[in-house]
Amino acid sequence: MGEFDLIARHFARLGAQRRDVTLGVGDDAALLAPPAGQHLVVAVDTLVAGVHFPTDTAAADIGHKALAVNLSDLAAMGAQPAWFTLSLTLPRADEAWLTAFAGGLRALAEAHGVQLVGGDTTRGPLTISVQVLGFAPPEAALRRSGARPGDGVYVSGTLGDAALGLAAVQGRVELPGESARRLRTRLDRPTPRVALGLALRGLATSAIDLSDGLAGDLTHILAASGVGAVLDCTALPLAAEVRAWGETEPAAWRLALSGGDDYELCFTAPPAQQAAVERACAQAGVPCTRIGSIVAGEGLQLRGRDGVPLPVPLRGYEHFAEERDADPR
Ligand code: ADP
Ligand code: MG
Repeated sequence: MGEFDLIARHFARLGAQRRDVTLGVGDDAALLAPPAGQHLVVAVDTLVAGVHFPTDTAAADIGHKALAVNLSDLAAMGAQPAWFTLSLTLPRADEAWLTAFAGGLRALAEAHGVQLVGGDTTRGPLTISVQVLGFAPPEAALRRSGARPGDGVYVSGTLGDAALGLAAVQGRVELPGESARRLRTRLDRPTPRVALGLALRGLATSAIDLSDGLAGDLTHILAASGVGAVLDCTALPLAAEVRAWGETEPAAWRLALSGGDDYELCFTAPPAQQAAVERACAQAGVPCTRIGSIVAGEGLQLRGRDGVPLPVPLRGYEHFAEERDADPR
């Protein structure tokens, strides 16, 4: 199978077939018709085998994740996704792998009404780069820079699931089979919070998606906004597996704060918008939790039980290295 057959078979018609695609896959470039009055919102993310996903990850899951992490970036901007391109580097043209990969990509693309409009195909170590394009009215786009003292800090879903799933894959922790499977799904098939991002337009003062862990990602909001934050660790939303894994409560909190790959949204909103935020989360069908407040100053402060100050943990990767040395599990 040559490069052109491969493209024609697997990628020529993938995702929603949109009327604003004047010319999609097959020419030298795509020709697209953005809606009048909106800005284009563009993001790109690359997944390298063994770095961004375990090498044993199923092809369908890789297809899902490659698009999901990009949709998550658009969600964090409050953008409506529309189109995407795919740069695929493959060690070989394996029909079964390509069919499964395209299937995972297609299901998520259709679910979000986005269309694959072009790409590039090359031979080399497995690497998938997806670029996604969407729209937002410029004044409604959610940025990292709008958090103000007094705003509440919120997160969607639960935190630390993907990091614990990865630790189980790597044999760093042992989990009951069903827990290991559920967390592996959280790692391999993140749910981009697109509807939530749209519902937060005009409400959230800032937003970011959680790819590197809450502590680090929230710090980007704080730096961009020129503010600080105080988080109440007892409010962190933890899945039952994460709670059960943490031998002590602070260990589970550290995982939730430092674990990457959850692709939940972290956002801020003024206290007067609390009820509207709750309605937006209900409308989007995603539970959201208020975990703290924005304060004047800079940097992240953590509080445990009885308001006791806690140190800010390192990223997930280092966290588990540390944990393993300290704890023979
Ligand atoms: P060119 O040599 O002009 O860059 P290519 O041979 O790379 O064109 O690609 C031919 C067509 O197939 C283009 O429209 C390109 O966007 C599309 N294409 C190539 N690879 C992919 C892919 N992996 N997914 C989607 N479209 C692709
Ligand atoms: Mg090309």
